[in-house]
Amino acid sequence: MLICDEYITPSSLADAFAAMTRHRGRYRVVAGCTDTLPWAREGRAGDVEIPVLIDVSRIPELIARRVDDKRVRLGAATPVQRFLDVPELARALPAGPRCAVWFADDQIREQATVGGNIVNASPAADVTPCLIAHDAEVELARSENGAVARRRMSLTDFVQGPGRTALQEGELLTAIECDALPAYGGSFEKVGHRRSLVISVVCLAALVKLDAQGRRVEDARLSIAGIGPKPLRLSEVENFLRGAPLDTGRLEQAAEMPVALVASRTRQEYRRDVVRGFMLRGLVNAAKRAGADPAALSAELETAYA
Ligand SMILES: Cc1cc2nc3c(=O)[nH]c(=O)nc-3n(C[C@H](O)[C@H](O)[C@H](O)COP(=O)(O)OP(=O)(O)OC[C@H]3O[C@@H](n4cnc5c(N)ncnc54)[C@H](O)[C@@H]3O)c2cc1C
Repeated sequence: MLICDEYITPSSLADAFAAMTRHRGRYRVVAGCTDTLPWAREGRAGDVEIPVLIDVSRIPELIARRVDDKRVRLGAATPVQRFLDVPELARALPAGPRCAVWFADDQIREQATVGGNIVNASPAADVTPCLIAHDAEVELARSENGAVARRRMSLTDFVQGPGRTALQEGELLTAIECDALPAYGGSFEKVGHRRSLVISVVCLAALVKLDAQGRRVEDARLSIAGIGPKPLRLSEVENFLRGAPLDTGRLEQAAEMPVALVASRTRQEYRRDVVRGFMLRGLVNAAKRAGADPAALSAELETAYA
């Protein structure tokens, strides 16, 4: 059980930093609490007493968003559900709704935040690979001499390993900025231990942009989680696909490339099979949604992986 003496809901970034300074060494930041609460229970952390919880989910800057044709800016406390119910966001992040639909259930998605998913740094977090495929950067803020000081870094560098990020003491994750890719087809493949309410064992975000004929790959963006300590961007596979004709042989070769990257501590053989299958299915689905010429993909491939 999680016990706290004081639960603070600051209504501005300045108030949040003031509370963090006032309660230095005695507080924990929370947003939706969907990782923090299950962690503080028997069998995991057990009974946990945190004197002060600072809930950042009502700070206007952290729930604001801006979407245009080129870039997306998401406040860190954006609930995962917004990927499903905000059409302009779904258009800009084509794998987003497919990631969200397999993420927990409606109630958890309303609580669970994008920033919480990133800072929790689970090796199999779903939102993180989805945003890595969009070249996401994180914005971090701290209070310095009474002013808000900000820094940025790529999301790939921010997540350092299981439960580890580059977030420093006294810092908040304020926003995520990434490419808007409305012209891409998107796919999100995920497998876990059961059918619903499932934490991923492996997940893959795939984005594909094709030429006007739907026969050549203009660009591909791929990120995978669950095969090592942190989500990975699959840049080598992207380079291999960029500019190449969309054909079955090429996709099968691409699907083999990340198999060697599987470095998880458990179920390596299983994960290798999953990676191969997800790569094919993710690429086929993304290509179809990007307007692939039906003649470009063999019928067997479509039937097996669509
Ligand atoms: C039933 C259930 C199903 C779930 N299903 C999935 C799933 O399908 N896929 C998946 O990836 N996850 C899943 N999760 C895990 C969880 O919902 C997500 O990781 C979620 O995005 C966490 O966000 P939160 O706001 O609830 O985090 P919180 O628990 O509030 O915080 C998590 C961590 O992030 C830190 N933090 C949060 N916001 C900030 C900020 N702005 N700045 C600095 N630090 C911050 C907190 O201090 C804490 O360490 C599930 C959880 C449950 C309970």
